[in-house]
Amino acid sequence: DTKQAVLEVNNIEVIYNHVILVLKGVSLTVPKGGITALLGGNGAGKTTTLKAISGLLASERGEVTKGSIHYGGKPTTDMDPADLVKLGVVQVMEGRHCFEHLTVEENLLTGAYTRTDGAAAIAQDLEMVYNYFPRLRERRKSQAGYTSGGEQQMCAIGRALMSRPETILLDEPSMGLAPQLVEQIFEIVKSVNENEGVTFLLAEQNTNVALRFAHHGYILESGRVVMEGPAAELRENPDVKEFYLGMS
Ligand code: ATP
Repeated sequence: DTKQAVLEVNNIEVIYNHVILVLKGVSLTVPKGGITALLGGNGAGKTTTLKAISGLLASERGEVTKGSIHYGGKPTTDMDPADLVKLGVVQVMEGRHCFEHLTVEENLLTGAYTRTDGAAAIAQDLEMVYNYFPRLRERRKSQAGYTSGGEQQMCAIGRALMSRPETILLDEPSMGLAPQLVEQIFEIVKSVNENEGVTFLLAEQNTNVALRFAHHGYILESGRVVMEGPAAELRENPDVKEFYLGMS
């Protein structure tokens, strides 16, 4: 792959509460304009890796104690989440995190709060989000807390898009959703990637679906990368088949 790397994670170690060592030297290269999957079981360190990149570790008493992170060539280790948003990096947290008491549309608009390019541009992007997620258009006046799990996941991704990001860190988009809905959400991620050029780094336990939509994958186990490669190769790898795809 000759695509330029937009994000480079170099051998990071992460410790929570000064004592709990969770990442034991993780390195990743995320190509600009690609979909990269971060795979592995419960507790492998996927969420921690995303939070280290987006600057959200500090609020959890976590710390990058070794290694470095660069985004767009700039050192971003320990950078404030708000500054990373300005660089174009947003995280969609696991469990959706919509504002329950706001309507779907109000939620989407909160994603645009840092923008300075005016109401017309924001209205245009709202339209873009509704075109990707027709379901959100139908539900735009509904209080988010009363929408379904799938609609909340769509709302969370839509809100991230409203900040006009260059890169979206997407944590476990499949969580708690029926297979058909998971498929639908991944299809939308793929078309946003292709049409808007948004780079995705997504954490997933659902190896099967992630490797069908991603270009490249990394597999984490106990805070270490144990395997990586083009998604098509990982899908055919006998160990991946046995341990992650349940196809032995
Ligand atoms: P999951 O799918 O459950 O989110 P994951 O691969 O994303 O799994 P992490 O959430 O990164 O894994 O968790 C990795 C390890 O770090 C786990 O053992 C977890 O208990 C621990 N951990 C996560 N957050 C904290 C925290 N705030 N304080 C202490 N330990 C934490």
